[in-house]
Amino acid sequence: MKVTLAIEGGSPVRDTYLPYAQPWTNDKDVNAVAEVLRSTWLTTGPMVETFEERFAKYADTWFAVAVSNGTAALHASVFAAGVKPGDEVITTPLTFVASANCVLYQGGRPVFADVQPDTLNIDPQKVEESVTPKTRAIVAVDYTGLPCDLSELRDIARRHNLLLIEDAAHALGATYRGVRIGSLADLTTFSLHPVKQVTTGEGGMVTTDKRAYVEMMKAFRNHGITTSAREREAKGAWFYEMTYLGYNYRLTDIQCALGLSQLERLDAFVERRRQIAERYTRELADLPVTLPVQVPDRESAWHLYVVRLNLGALRVDRGQVFAALRAENIGVNVHYIPVYWHPYYSETLGYRKGLCLEAEKAYPRLLTLPMFPKMSDKDVADVIEAMHKVLTFYAR
Ligand SMILES: *Cc1c(COP(=O)(O)O)cnc(C)c1O
Repeated sequence: MKVTLAIEGGSPVRDTYLPYAQPWTNDKDVNAVAEVLRSTWLTTGPMVETFEERFAKYADTWFAVAVSNGTAALHASVFAAGVKPGDEVITTPLTFVASANCVLYQGGRPVFADVQPDTLNIDPQKVEESVTPKTRAIVAVDYTGLPCDLSELRDIARRHNLLLIEDAAHALGATYRGVRIGSLADLTTFSLHPVKQVTTGEGGMVTTDKRAYVEMMKAFRNHGITTSAREREAKGAWFYEMTYLGYNYRLTDIQCALGLSQLERLDAFVERRRQIAERYTRELADLPVTLPVQVPDRESAWHLYVVRLNLGALRVDRGQVFAALRAENIGVNVHYIPVYWHPYYSETLGYRKGLCLEAEKAYPRLLTLPMFPKMSDKDVADVIEAMHKVLTFYAR
């Protein structure tokens, strides 16, 4: 039987659009939020502290500081790391723009170090080669949820007196040598956006073992003021001082109630993601794609399932495969355009193409498949079927 792709007028693998990511909320989440709405503390109240404590416990670290989103978590970390105008911060090109933008916010200069060809995580050797007397910190990203080479990066940071910031927006629930992500860098940041492991609508968290950073970041999220309204009320005091130039990066009690409720299901969410990944890996193995690499001493949190198309074995490029899969109602995506290719970096700031050849070589081949815990077995089967349908059709 001749197969006609949906993009050429055939019938799609499924009738409804399957997005690449979707949150999973339930009645318990709704009730937790409703309970806060019936109280009087809507923003920074008791839920924030409880959420921070529970999150720190989960991530096996001393402290957690809740902020309004993952980008604010990165900004607060770069601030706590003391990055000043003229300082350089080394990061990866294969990430969401926020991992580099946070350096610009404090007047620093992002320096892009290339990725490893297998994991697509930042290459420690390239990091070391990028260190100059101006380097202040490293922002490493656990791309797709697979922890980067933390031990090597910590070594480099120690030898050159740099701070290691880990952008773990993808990696809540991942482990490195048996240890949960959260306590392995000087500062670890998380995003609680609806596409991530657990959500607060918008939200972010920084974990750390150093109390001094906590105090700076708690001030930073509150305009740089060193006491919160709640602390002042408790003490019956009105006096406050602004010590740093901070922002309003507070997370609300409403959101923290949702986060607390979501956190209870985090392990189940990660387990479901792992099952889906295993099935993809098994059932896509004979297609012209390079599947995600796993590393023996770490477990991915499977935020994203990214394959690389073997373009030599296909008659078309990634754009055509992407469009054909979308026509089959499979919400594929691309993570990421190399950060310094964006016009703000290339045109406004003058970064040139060719800085990170491995990332540039990977980019035209990247394709993100739908991956979220709420996916049914049928959804997973549809993705696999559509991948076979489209890639077999376009095979040379
Ligand atoms: C999602 C994400 C962020 C930003 O998080 P927001 O909560 O959307 O601000 C930062 N870095 C990476 C790698 C991300 O995936």
